[in-house]
Amino acid sequence: MSAVVERAAYVHPAALVEGAIGAGTRVWAFAHVMRDAVVGRDCNICDHAFIESGARVGDGVTVKNGAMIWEGVTIGDGVFVGPGVAFTNDLTPRSARLAGLNRSHDGWLTPTMVQEGASIGGGAVIVAGVTIGAYALVAAGAVVTRDVPPHALVKGNPARRSGWVCRCGAKLHIASGNTICADCGATYIISDEGVVAWQRP
Ligand SMILES: [Zn+2]
Repeated sequence: MSAVVERAAYVHPAALVEGAIGAGTRVWAFAHVMRDAVVGRDCNICDHAFIESGARVGDGVTVKNGAMIWEGVTIGDGVFVGPGVAFTNDLTPRSARLAGLNRSHDGWLTPTMVQEGASIGGGAVIVAGVTIGAYALVAAGAVVTRDVPPHALVKGNPARRSGWVCRCGAKLHIASGNTICADCGATYIISDEGVVAWQRP
């Protein structure tokens, strides 16, 4: 039996890692992983990314430069978070220092979930409370205000579905029915509701 050799995590000397990061994860300069944030194995956390206490990032995740992942956000395995992506976690935000503010704000935290294999394009805004389905693709600059089905391609503000994408990321060129991905050869059965079944090439 061969020995299991685990790659160590790498933290750039100018990064700030106070939370837990898994084996093989790399954290680059000026990125900040706060205390009580959890980052899985084999992730790549690029310069100036911010991962707040209470955020959870799975295995094999890419977080590009300047992305902001707050408490209440859960990122599944293999997700791509593009540069400058902004999550949110409070649907009724007010500065706690606002003069005259007198309101109880218990239960303010609104969780967000990004499922396995999804990708979020640069500059997208993910409004708190949504679930982005597995292998979905959020276009650059989109503002996501409601749930995104698995394999959906969404774009615009507010983001609307404009098609379906393969696990490999290529667009599938039908609205519904049976199709084969032109890029990787995977086969799909799609209904108006989404991907019903798929098979590897
Ligand atoms: Zn494909």
